[in-house]
Amino acid sequence: MSDIIISLIKGQDMKKILEYQEIDTKIKDIDDKLKQSPERKKYMNALAFAKSKDEAVKNFDAKTTALSGKLDAAKAGFEKNIATLSEYKGELSTLDSSEEAAYFQKALSQTKTALETCERDLVQILREMEETKKQFEDFKTRLAEEGVIYNQNKPLYEAQKKEADEKTAEIKAALLKAEAGVSPELLSVYNKKKAENIFPVFVPLKKDMCGGCFTNVPLNEQSKLKREKMIDCEKCRRIIYIID
Ligand SMILES: [Zn+2]
Repeated sequence: MSDIIISLIKGQDMKKILEYQEIDTKIKDIDDKLKQSPERKKYMNALAFAKSKDEAVKNFDAKTTALSGKLDAAKAGFEKNIATLSEYKGELSTLDSSEEAAYFQKALSQTKTALETCERDLVQILREMEETKKQFEDFKTRLAEEGVIYNQNKPLYEAQKKEADEKTAEIKAALLKAEAGVSPELLSVYNKKKAENIFPVFVPLKKDMCGGCFTNVPLNEQSKLKREKMIDCEKCRRIIYIID
């Protein structure tokens, strides 16, 4: 806070900004209450879920397509190995040298191993497909549930919002009226702090403590406060004031 502003502060200016803050607090309270409304939370969550729906469906589609592709490939591999196996089996009976027999035995064993791998892959893919199907069913159930929650809470929240807006409009008119008497310098300080989520902006000194965060105000700061009528709280950055 600049010294120029401080030097301008008079008791009357402080009273005016405190009145302004009091009215503004009422608006904030209404807003906070609405934000904490359980109906609003349910409505917002259901809305967010509905908004994420398309993305989720797209992901399920992509997963299913990928799994189908894997399944086709595994099936083709399985069939190919089965065909090779029966081919080898037919040829085994016509072999006349032991070298040939040994070669086919080895090829046969390799094909069998490949076949087993294909079988394991197939089982795994089918399991994943089953799991994905179940997840999709759960998703659809949740979607239906969220739809009900949305429909139930949307009108309730909208009614609350309408009521809050009406109340706020009245208070805003009073706030605007009060603003006329407030020193522009103090109002500017107020708005700046409020924009930083420091609220209430002005707090009194309470038993040598900041009236906002209840931190002890050091003696040197207290003398400054006596001189300048307001100081920044070092802890919570609210403005501690005194009125003579
Ligand atoms: Zn403080």
